[in-house]
Amino acid sequence: MKSIAVRLERTQQLSHEILIGRHIMDRVGLLMLRHRWASNYVLVADSHVASLHACSILETLCSVGLRVHMLEVPPGEGSKSMEICLDLIRRLMLLGADRGFALLALGGGVVGDLTGFVASMYMRGIPYVQIPTTLLAQVDSSIGGKTGIDLPEGKNLVGTFHQPRAVFVDLAFLDTLSQAQIREGLAEVIKYGLIEDPELLRKLESSPELWKNQDPGAMEELVTKCCVIKKRFVEMDEMDRGVRRILNFGHTVGHAVEAESGYRLSHGEAVSVGMAAETRISARLGHLPWEEAMRLEDLLKSMGLPVRLPRGLSVSQILSRMEKDKKREGGRLPFVLLRRPGLPFLDDSVGAHLVRDVLEELGA
Ligand code: NAD
Repeated sequence: MKSIAVRLERTQQLSHEILIGRHIMDRVGLLMLRHRWASNYVLVADSHVASLHACSILETLCSVGLRVHMLEVPPGEGSKSMEICLDLIRRLMLLGADRGFALLALGGGVVGDLTGFVASMYMRGIPYVQIPTTLLAQVDSSIGGKTGIDLPEGKNLVGTFHQPRAVFVDLAFLDTLSQAQIREGLAEVIKYGLIEDPELLRKLESSPELWKNQDPGAMEELVTKCCVIKKRFVEMDEMDRGVRRILNFGHTVGHAVEAESGYRLSHGEAVSVGMAAETRISARLGHLPWEEAMRLEDLLKSMGLPVRLPRGLSVSQILSRMEKDKKREGGRLPFVLLRRPGLPFLDDSVGAHLVRDVLEELGA
């Protein structure tokens, strides 16, 4: 089992470990017992993940003497809503949960973001632990303490920073994911390659079948690499005021496309389209050679990820959603652009006409 330390400046207490390995849940139980984060735990999972994994986890955790309750939410982005959040809070009240309780977020980014958000608010904040079960959640959403829910007006418009007590990454969860779910996670992996690790990009390009077929050794190396990249950005800028925003590469366009598709497009697919758009913007502004933008599109396509807007999406509506993006400051929306893979920068002066042109190109 590998251990990566997340050292945060805000307070020492917020620093925690990301533990990565295969079939580590029995050791996780013992670790939780030792740390005594809570007297009682509430495992939160969507009904799909619950049906696959909750029984064995409950059994493992209870067998070492932990008191663990279980709450289910419906699967899908729709659960990142105020309604589900209030429902969870009420069900915690019914369980008699007090400040001695902690939550365990078992699932993908949806359950992680929702559970973290509830934990940050319930009784003014209780601890929580991330147990990510999708590739996307293992390499990205479970790390860094960003929690949140969506509003009809846009994604992640209500949220908090609330660091988990630990992130337990059990690679065995990936075995029950579909190819499509793996692809969605690979979109965020490609993002890390583009913003920080060109060597990772080359590896993805040279042997796509290794990742698509989930070679266990390759997956462990990949997940560990991504966790290290993400935690470094979080350590430098926990509250997302500066350099951490680089992690939003592909997301400025991606979030708007995801919401405008009514979440028919998954987060990973929308980020893929967003990265295609944002590299084209970089190339159109003369920052990035066109060959690099086309190279990225080829890589995304080779992974089975989309690089075009889905049919029927309105470019004007996507642009109007981008106007409500929470990253907007003083009327300006910062874009992450590239000079080359591994050399990103923030630019808040990208003109709306250029974004429209590029989106129309991608919609054609
Ligand atoms: P998700 O949580 O909806 O999971 C996708 C699907 O996979 C669900 O139907 C779920 O039931 C299923 N699933 C989960 N684990 C499984 C397993 N092991 N086996 C089989 N099926 C499984 O989606 P996601 O792609 O994991 O996360 C997307 C969300 O993450 C978005 O809401 C996005 O905004 C958020 N996100 C947050 C951050 C952050 O920093 N907080 C970063 C990136 C993305």
